[in-house]
Amino acid sequence: MAAYADVIIDITAPTLDRTFQYEIPAELAPRAMIGAPVAVPFGNGKAPRRGYIVGLSDEPKVDAAKLRPIADIPDRDLSIEDSLVSLARQIRERYGGSLYDALRVVIPSRQKVQSVPKRIVKRALTVTELVAAAEKLTARETAKARLYKALTETEEIPYELVTGKLKLTKDALEKAAKEGILTIETVENDARSQGEGLTVTLNDEQVAAAEAVLAAPPESVFVLHGITGSGKTEVYLRVIGDIVAQGKQVIVLIPEIALTYQTVMRFYRCFGDKVAFVHSKMSAGDRYRMRERARKGEISIMIGPRSALFTPFPNLGMLIVDEEHETSYRSESTPRYHAVAVAVMRAKMCGAKVILGSATPSTETFYKCESGEYRLLTLTKRAKEGAALPKAEIVDLREEIAAHNYSVISRRLRAAITDRLAKKEQVMLFLNRRGYAGFVSCRACGETATCPHCDVSLTYHNDGTLRCHYCGYRRAYEKTCPSCGSKFYLPFGRSGTQKIEELVAKEFPTARVLRMDADTTKAAEDYEAILTEFAEGRGDILIGTQMIVKGHDFPKVTLVGALAADLSLGVPEYNSAERTFDLLAQAAGRAGRDRIPGEVIIQTYRPEHYAVQAAATADYRAFYDTEIAFRRSCGYPPVRHLLTIVGADRREAFLESAMDDLAAAVKAAVAADGAVVIGPSPALLRKKKDLFYRVLYVKHGDVSVCVRAKDVAEGWMRGERGVGLTFDVD
Ligand code: ADP
Ligand code: ZN
Ligand code: ZN
Repeated sequence: MAAYADVIIDITAPTLDRTFQYEIPAELAPRAMIGAPVAVPFGNGKAPRRGYIVGLSDEPKVDAAKLRPIADIPDRDLSIEDSLVSLARQIRERYGGSLYDALRVVIPSRQKVQSVPKRIVKRALTVTELVAAAEKLTARETAKARLYKALTETEEIPYELVTGKLKLTKDALEKAAKEGILTIETVENDARSQGEGLTVTLNDEQVAAAEAVLAAPPESVFVLHGITGSGKTEVYLRVIGDIVAQGKQVIVLIPEIALTYQTVMRFYRCFGDKVAFVHSKMSAGDRYRMRERARKGEISIMIGPRSALFTPFPNLGMLIVDEEHETSYRSESTPRYHAVAVAVMRAKMCGAKVILGSATPSTETFYKCESGEYRLLTLTKRAKEGAALPKAEIVDLREEIAAHNYSVISRRLRAAITDRLAKKEQVMLFLNRRGYAGFVSCRACGETATCPHCDVSLTYHNDGTLRCHYCGYRRAYEKTCPSCGSKFYLPFGRSGTQKIEELVAKEFPTARVLRMDADTTKAAEDYEAILTEFAEGRGDILIGTQMIVKGHDFPKVTLVGALAADLSLGVPEYNSAERTFDLLAQAAGRAGRDRIPGEVIIQTYRPEHYAVQAAATADYRAFYDTEIAFRRSCGYPPVRHLLTIVGADRREAFLESAMDDLAAAVKAAVAADGAVVIGPSPALLRKKKDLFYRVLYVKHGDVSVCVRAKDVAEGWMRGERGVGLTFDVD
């Protein structure tokens, strides 16, 4: 047992590496764990200070006689801060990295908080006058137009919502105030607008879902599965209303990209000032202020992306994760935690319930419904009268090749676009950029080169080989299709949205074409501007990457074309079919949101693929059943757990031998439990910015074995080898 502990006294300090060493008295030793809250003597103060153990050691860093003993390690009555630190410890245990990293995620560093007076923007005209004023605005005044529209719907709006999400400047607001359109008022901080509560009458399915959640015991996890537009958000609102009435708080996670003004307003209209929201464009100071308001009980509902998960609510009753399948819920930096898993962890700690909502739940999540760990609630129809699901059609690109059409736009899609342009309806063309250049497929018969051992795509390398990045298998690249002999057996390249834009402009010279991708949307404003332009009908065709298929409502869009479904099918990862299904299903959900029926055209070289078929028929269940059978047969998550260890170093040979040693160490530790250790082999990206990468996989049915393998690797890394390692469980 360790004799000394490193203790952080001030957890909100901007740097966490300021620790102090203390002696651990024998009677406290059993409770002296990393992350444990402690009381310690500090400086000359008589009263002990609170702190947290962040490190343990057997060696004193200074003369042991000078170290003071820890005064107490309480083991009950966790404060909200204690429980967040304990959550950080669980995150560290599950996902690796240091406790510092995990603490920084869970508890942001302290910021100066200015007390800002609470202000509201209130309408000064009648609704009719306001509508008339809105009609006089020019096409460029989009933020104003949105504000006027919002004020016709709600009499008063919090100032920060107006400036933040509507992107209005202070000047613009003051000008509108001078013109007598609105007033800006400062109100007492405790003057609360209560919100209107629920305004729609829930249908039977929605009522059943909400009641099941409310009646369930604490810690229950629900999956709310319903197509887009089936009324999931209304179910959330109903449940939140009840939880808040019980004096508890609620966290609602919404992916950043779906955190639009409309969404925030829906919650605000329902719950008034009990709601706050955070987003990543907010300053650290503003975000900190929101946290403090939550801690003090000034708000009861926090809406935001991943980071809102750590809102310090003292009596958290419910966590809702909307669009739970979204990849943005996984953190890209250490610790690489997943918000869904951490939401469940946090709920278990404080007895809260969880709702995971999605039209296309992740395979991992749905698997847990089947095993009985989560409970499934289903909404089967669109809630709004008259809104129907669009009709989907699959276009077989192999037939285009046979008919000598080598364009990325099929004859069928071209005809449909021409038809919509004539009818003055709008078109979205979605290019699947999640696609990965380098996999080889036959354009004539659809045959793809896959690994005989792993059932994932092989990747083309410039030395003329095809390789599996899971197991290292390689073979020579043959230029003719092994299945049909066609010479169109080629590696896929990345055709960018820009190229497509040029092509579309050439084929449809009179159409107004807008493009949205990472290049055209460097700033958030660009992104909003393009969406607004399109929403207001100042474009006929919107071309873009996955950004355009997520969560936006364009009532005039009656045709969505998915240009190359195959690109994401070729990603050499075990979940590429799932990603493809999600994207295609979402793209399909964009068409026909209003009363005009919509149409979706999916172009592919592999029309028979189950992900394509299920997306076209909007049949989640059919997709899941095939997918889970595939995962089972290959031993992939969620059936078995997969630990990915990526090693990085500048010296390739050194990295290679170090990773071999690591693999041997891991094997020695977990092979007896039946764990399968695969690799090491070069990573998908072998070299990036002068660093070489190698990857090692550990598969086992029990996640604790994978976590143990990770612990072994972490211990090994702390040895002499100096290779940078990152970990990823599932
Ligand atoms: P989801 O979150 O599943 O995409 P929403 O909750 O946003 O669905 O509902 C889609 C649309 O249907 C919204 O305009 C919403 O106001 C409306 N709606 C939802 N439930 C009902 C209902 N029971 N009656 C009438 N309209 C409803
Ligand atoms: Zn072929
Ligand atoms: Zn392989």
